[in-house]
Amino acid sequence: MRKLSIALLFSTFTILALAQPPSHFDGHTWWDYIKVIADDKMEGRDTGSRGEHAAQEYAVDQLKKAGLDPAGIDGFYQPVRFVSRQIVEKDCSLTLVRNGQREPLVLGDDALIGTRIIPAPEVKAPLFFVGYGLKVPEKNYDDFAGLDVKGKLVVIFSGSPADIPGPLAAHYQTLLERWKVLRAAGAVGIVSLINPASMDIPWSRISLNRTHATMDLDYPEFDETAGARLSVTMNPASAEKLFAGSGHTFAEIAELGKDRKPLPHFPLAVSLEAKTKVETLKVESANLVAKLSGSDPKLKDEYVVLSAHIDHVGIGAPINGDSIYNGAMDDGSGSALLIDEAAIFKKNPEKLRRSILFVFVTAEEKGLLGSKYFAAHPTVPPKSLVADVNVDMFLPIVPLKVLRVLGLDDSDLGDRAQQISQSQGVKVQPDPEPLRNLFVRSDQYNFIRHGVPSIIMSVGSEPGSPEQQIFKDWLTNRYHAPSDDLNQPVDFDAAAKYEEIVRSLLINIANDDHRPQWKQDSFFRRYAK
Ligand SMILES: [Zn+2]
Repeated sequence: MRKLSIALLFSTFTILALAQPPSHFDGHTWWDYIKVIADDKMEGRDTGSRGEHAAQEYAVDQLKKAGLDPAGIDGFYQPVRFVSRQIVEKDCSLTLVRNGQREPLVLGDDALIGTRIIPAPEVKAPLFFVGYGLKVPEKNYDDFAGLDVKGKLVVIFSGSPADIPGPLAAHYQTLLERWKVLRAAGAVGIVSLINPASMDIPWSRISLNRTHATMDLDYPEFDETAGARLSVTMNPASAEKLFAGSGHTFAEIAELGKDRKPLPHFPLAVSLEAKTKVETLKVESANLVAKLSGSDPKLKDEYVVLSAHIDHVGIGAPINGDSIYNGAMDDGSGSALLIDEAAIFKKNPEKLRRSILFVFVTAEEKGLLGSKYFAAHPTVPPKSLVADVNVDMFLPIVPLKVLRVLGLDDSDLGDRAQQISQSQGVKVQPDPEPLRNLFVRSDQYNFIRHGVPSIIMSVGSEPGSPEQQIFKDWLTNRYHAPSDDLNQPVDFDAAAKYEEIVRSLLINIANDDHRPQWKQDSFFRRYAK
C-alpha cells in the first residue's frame, strides 16, 4: 500500500482515500494501444496521411469494441478540410539592409520563414523592436503606446512581463490575438525572437524541420491573419545581427526577458527584404467522435468531452538514422487513454447521468486545428458541451506524486481534480512554467474560447527535484523527435493512476447536479457569455 503523505493524513480526504476501490487500470492495456498507434507502420500520423488514417481506423475499431456510439457526421468521423503550405526554400531569401549595405541571412542557420502567415512574394520593410509586442487591456499594458509601426515589421521577444498572469499572457500571445493588435497598429509582419530561457527544443532541431508543410483550416471563417505579409523566426544565436547599430543588444534583451522584466522599445537600424515562394496543397482529414450515453432523461443530452489528438508530425528529417516521428507520448498516450477509458467503462460500467463524448481531434500539431473546427462546429449542440478534459502528452515517465493542472484556478474543474487527486494521494500543482504558454498550446484552448470550462493535467514534479530534470531531458531529447517512440522508459503505475484520476473526474462531471462553472475571476470566463 502506498505511504500517505503527512498532509493527506490531516486532510478531510483521508476517509475517501481509504475508501478508494482498487484501480481499474494497470498501465499495460493503455501501453498496448500505444504500441499500435505509435508503430512505425503509422508513419508518425501526419494530418491527412495514410498513417493517420490507419490510426483512426484502429481507434474506431476499438471504440466499437468498447460499445460506444458513433457521434460524428459520417459515422465516427467528422471530416475537416485543410490547406497545406510548404516553403520552397531554394526560391526564398532573407536579406538585412543597413545603410544600403546588404547582408544575406542563411535560411535555417540564421532564420526561418513561417507559413502560418501566408508570406507575400516580396516584402521590404524597416524593423522595429516592440519588446514583448503585447497589448493587454485588462492590465493596462500596451507595448505599442506612442509607437509608429505602420508599414513596419515588428520584432517581438517571445514571453511576457511578470505582472501579467500566465493564462492572460498566453492568450494574448496566440496568433489570432497578436495579429488583431498588429493589424490595428498597421504592421506588415512579425519577426519573432525566441526567448532562450523558454526554448523547448534546440534551434538545430527547430531548423531541421523548417521546410515541413504547415496547415490551416480551409474555410474563410478561420482566416486569422488577413493583411499579414511575413513571419520570420530568428535563431537566438543570430539575433544580434538585428540589433547592431540600434544602441541595444540581444544579450541585454534576453537577460531582461529571462526574468520577465520590462523591455525597451526602439527602431532597429536595419530593414528586412524577403523573397518567398510557397506551394499549397489541399488536405483532408477528420476528427473522431464517439459517445457513451448517460442515463438521466434530461442530463444525457449534456456532454462531458474527453479529448486527445491522434495526429502527430509524420515523417521528417532523420535523427540518428530514424525519420519516423512516432509520437508515442505526443499524443499516442492521450489517444490510447481515450480508448482505454472507453474499454474500462465497458468492463466496469458506471451509472452516468450525463453522456461522455470521446473526441480524437486531428491537426493539433498544425496549430490546434481539428479542435478549432470541432469547437466551432460540434457534432452535438454547442450549449450541451459542459466540460473538456483534454489529455495531451501527460508524460507518465516518473511516479505520479504531483499532478500538474493547467486551468486549476479557472473553473471548479480545478477543485474537482484537486479533490480527486488528493483522495488518491497525489498532490496538485498549478502551471509551474507560465513562460511556456502551455495553457494555449493544446486542444483545450479551443473549448475555452467557446466558453466550455476545460482542464489539462499531466504528471508533474517538484521544482529542483531529479524528476524535473527527467522531464527537461525528455523535452530536449524526445519531444517532437523520432525518439518519442516505443523504446522509452514508461512508468506504468503512474499511467494507471493518472487514468484512474481521469475516470473519477469524468464520473464526477457526468453525475454532479451542477455543470462545471468558470470562476468569477477567471480571465477565460468572458467566452462563456
Ligand atoms: Zn506535439
